[in-house]
Amino acid sequence: MTRVLFLEDSYLKECDATVVSVKDGKYVVLDQTLFYPKGGGQPWDTGTIVKGNDKFKVVYVGKFSGEISHEVDHAGLSEGAKVHCILDWERRYKLMRSHTAAHVFASLLCTGTGALVTGNQLEEDKVRFDFNLEKFDPEVVREYIGKSNELFKKDIPVKSYELPRDEALRIPGVVKMAEAFPPDLPSLRIVEIVGVDAQADGGTHVKNLKEVGQIELLKTENKGKQNRRVYFSLI
Ligand SMILES: [Zn+2]
Repeated sequence: MTRVLFLEDSYLKECDATVVSVKDGKYVVLDQTLFYPKGGGQPWDTGTIVKGNDKFKVVYVGKFSGEISHEVDHAGLSEGAKVHCILDWERRYKLMRSHTAAHVFASLLCTGTGALVTGNQLEEDKVRFDFNLEKFDPEVVREYIGKSNELFKKDIPVKSYELPRDEALRIPGVVKMAEAFPPDLPSLRIVEIVGVDAQADGGTHVKNLKEVGQIELLKTENKGKQNRRVYFSLI
């Protein structure tokens, strides 16, 4: 099983690794990785795998039958190769800031209005957020963006830890999306924004709300009777 370094430390930018297997010349499994695979509303990481003088661009990272697989731009890696991995840190750090921002905004909006989250997708330059709410006023969304920005000025730690499943599921609001109910695992990883929110989550986050910066509302849309869509971005 690949050691998942980004869950241990989301600030790791480089690591050494050994190639465990290569399929079709370009799908690479490593003994340890810092590349996040697509999932949970967070895009996959990009970066480079270096072997000697050869640089392999990581163009896609996905999870297949429980294994994290890195798709590289050309063949040449083989089983047992010692490599060095370099994350496209600027892009990932932005995604970490956006991901933490999304948790704060979701928590404030859902607690304040009773809205239910139906979808959430981080993109490189914006965050898309879908929720169910009967009465919809874009001004209310603006108000919660403002409340989120107030919190992003404060020194509030963000922690992650594993909890036994039963204990985790007793935390109010720990699973925000019904369809994203965690699979039947004995323990769940909790991302806690101290005093604000605790959620079952496998994504990468910043360690303090101050790192988020500020966010701005880009657009609100009505997608049917109760479905609302909001886009916001980091400033
Ligand atoms: Zn999340």
